[in-house]
Amino acid sequence: MSLLGADASEPLPISLVGHTVFCPRRAWLEAAGERVDSYQMEVGSSAHRRVDDPTSSRPTAQRSVDAHHAELGIVGKCDIVEGDPAQGVQVIEYKASPVRRQPTVTDPHRIQLTLQRMCLESMGLRVASMGVYFTNHQSLVTVEPSTELDTRAIDYVSQTRAIVEGKSAPPPLDADEKCRFCSHASVCLPDEITAAKPARSISVTDPNTDILHLLTYGSRAQLRQGRIQVVKGDEELASVPLERAAGLVIYGNIDVSGALVRELLWRGATIVWCSGTGRVIGWSRSAKAPHGHERVAQYLRSEQGDLGMAREFVACKIGNQATLLRRNGTATATAVADIRKVKRRAGQVRSLPDLFAVEGEAAALYFAGFPGMFKERADQSLVGEWDGRAGRHASDPLNAALNFVYGMLLSDTIRAIVACGLDPSAGFLHSSARNKPALALDLMEEFRAPIADSAIIGAVNNGSFDATMVTRSLGDCRLTERGRKVVTSAYERRAQTVITHPEFGYRVTWRRAIEIQARMVLAVLDGTRQDYRGVQTR
Ligand code: SF4
Repeated sequence: MSLLGADASEPLPISLVGHTVFCPRRAWLEAAGERVDSYQMEVGSSAHRRVDDPTSSRPTAQRSVDAHHAELGIVGKCDIVEGDPAQGVQVIEYKASPVRRQPTVTDPHRIQLTLQRMCLESMGLRVASMGVYFTNHQSLVTVEPSTELDTRAIDYVSQTRAIVEGKSAPPPLDADEKCRFCSHASVCLPDEITAAKPARSISVTDPNTDILHLLTYGSRAQLRQGRIQVVKGDEELASVPLERAAGLVIYGNIDVSGALVRELLWRGATIVWCSGTGRVIGWSRSAKAPHGHERVAQYLRSEQGDLGMAREFVACKIGNQATLLRRNGTATATAVADIRKVKRRAGQVRSLPDLFAVEGEAAALYFAGFPGMFKERADQSLVGEWDGRAGRHASDPLNAALNFVYGMLLSDTIRAIVACGLDPSAGFLHSSARNKPALALDLMEEFRAPIADSAIIGAVNNGSFDATMVTRSLGDCRLTERGRKVVTSAYERRAQTVITHPEFGYRVTWRRAIEIQARMVLAVLDGTRQDYRGVQTR
């Protein structure tokens, strides 16, 4: 739940103040509702598990004790309050710390404990001592109270309130060592949004099973013993551990159990429903989605328009089309140079209609060269039927495959946008009229050539996709179930391909590159970046 914009009378969690001590931006990310599941946090939660259970309290040691301070406007939980109240109690905070490191009390620990002590004292208890118990070292380190600590703790409460009530995000720390160990680095992107060359790489989540594509008509996905089970009749088609699924994409007539929908919403994993031809029908979003404030900023900015952002989406799309042609095509250097000239004009146009005109011009040049990217060994009947790019109602296999794969890219982009709390519907290039997922359509532009087109070109060139994988009816051409499976595999292989990020120089999957770009849009909306920079392959 987002705390940003909270009423001044709403109490602040003491843990949030602890984040401010570590880094003001981390407090802001937490307050905005960013949920970060890192190994560090899992270790921290497991260290707390027993002390978080108030029923395991003993008369001399109360666990998970609620504490508040009305005047300071803070609330929190003390892990353990032990001892005789008449003599004065001891407050203990449980922390996990790697065994290879010293059990050292940090500044956030001291401030948290001080605020807990102040809360308990304001509730009428006398606190005799306080300390941090390091679970891995099984050792208690005491913290001495002082008026200096009290003053700093009160000051951090004020700072936290200012962050929560602020209109824009605090800037990231500048080349700070803390960022290397920060649990929030993958959502904060401190180097990326300051456009510095990142000093550390973003870890790639397990690329093999993070998105589940359900393609078999008549099947059903359900929750079974902590796994997502897909069945058709009595046959089990797939069974995947729940925690391995970052999202679900469903194509056509496939049922999903209510329990599975609820569990995925709880985990913040998005479900995207598509038609059998890959057209996106809708998506789910958890009520815990972060960055409610930035969503409002997104609506306002979308309504006002942002030509700079729109130009960047189109310029990167055209630049990436030129790169794909240069790398794979038989297109002449002149044709590639012509597309690059159009790209330069995209960066200078003064209106959206002009931008769409330039985009159309580049598309005509690119798709004229498209057949040249297929090798001689590919099914030549596919190339023979190609009569230029057709959006809806494809009448040839290549266009049917492109339509399907663009639907997959759109689903991935929607998922990335929803994950960072923005609304796929309010964009800057495409219109939100007619209820299109406008921001997702904007953001996917720069990824069409390197992910979607590249996947189809690869599948045709290696012989895995051919003209037998379509059905035809009344001039319409659609993929068969086999065709959809082949195109899905080709797309997944491409989305999971690890590349050197053209801008930041570290290794990421294409899928993670989409997520990073969604966060670049977020950084513009929350005020941490002046402008948006797209991904351009070279
Ligand atoms: S990554 Fe660095 S700037 Fe970002 S929240 Fe963490 S410590 Fe702060």
